[in-house]
Amino acid sequence: MLQDAHGREFSYLRLSITDVCNYRCNYCLPDGYQCESKQQHLSLDEIKTLVSAFARNGIEKVRITGGEPSLRRDLCDIITVIKNTPGIKKVALTTNAHQLDRHVKAWANAGLDALNVSCDSLDGRMLKAIIGRNNLTELLNGLAIAQTTTISSIKINTVLLKQYNYAQIQDLIAWVKDKPISLRFIELMQTLDNKVYFEKNHVSAQHVADKLTAEGWQAIQRSKSAGPAKEFYHPDSLGKVGFIAPYSKDFCQSCNRLRISSLGKLHLCLFGEAGHDLRPLLTKDKQHQLDACIDALLNDKPLSHFLHQGISGCTSDLAMLGG
Ligand code: SAM
Repeated sequence: MLQDAHGREFSYLRLSITDVCNYRCNYCLPDGYQCESKQQHLSLDEIKTLVSAFARNGIEKVRITGGEPSLRRDLCDIITVIKNTPGIKKVALTTNAHQLDRHVKAWANAGLDALNVSCDSLDGRMLKAIIGRNNLTELLNGLAIAQTTTISSIKINTVLLKQYNYAQIQDLIAWVKDKPISLRFIELMQTLDNKVYFEKNHVSAQHVADKLTAEGWQAIQRSKSAGPAKEFYHPDSLGKVGFIAPYSKDFCQSCNRLRISSLGKLHLCLFGEAGHDLRPLLTKDKQHQLDACIDALLNDKPLSHFLHQGISGCTSDLAMLGG
């Protein structure tokens, strides 16, 4: 199992397959995706070599992310290749719900185990204000279809935004009451590009968690290897509620994830200073070098990010790496 110098073990890889996104979320890409030059994203063969190397070294779960991963025409092939990699137990996908209703069955048939769908509001007008469009029809239809497939875990990601959806979070909690869907509130993170927006919109996830506790929600004990998310259940709700609270104390202590950019760079932290290029090693004859390189790089994983001090590393937006 991959381990860093601080004793943390890594079983989870977040793999960006494109940095292109078709939405304009105001906290991420308010002006839309800006294409400086045409990028060569990892090919299916490179993804196969890369995931095999990480799986040989103990990675069991791969989350496909982006940009918007559904924009890649070969997404089903990517899911299947990862699913068929010896050692990989779980393939997950994070999507903005673009054409979810059209594609989710095919993703399930390709081997997808877990689906996270970003949904910042159930109110079409609010959605338009946050993400630049009202995608509720394809999102809700897509989720209904997803529930009929073999996908065993469905989660909703909602970024907490003081000036936008914060007053509506009870609607989302009420909505999952009769659904086997987990709601994940994500604390807004500061990036290089959203500093002013961040200052106006950041809300502490702990504040919401405290409110839930007062309303009878109870924390679910999770294993140390389960990662930094906190999850709550309520006896009257089928759906659970969780939090990703990167500004909370000790958040990085339970970090169990590594990130690969769509250009094949290993990022040891979402808010690190740079990625380490693995691409030159993504050929079949360089397996040993690739394994040794990943192992050596892990020693440089920092103990914590410096988000509390307003330092976002080289991360201009989360579409760059997939969150
Ligand atoms: N396009 C896909 C999607 O929208 O789910 C995957 C990539 S997106 C970068 C992954 C997640 O990061 C989404 O749930 C999005 O809402 C979240 N996100 C983006 N920027 C963020 C920020 N500054 N703080 C917190 N979450 C953010």
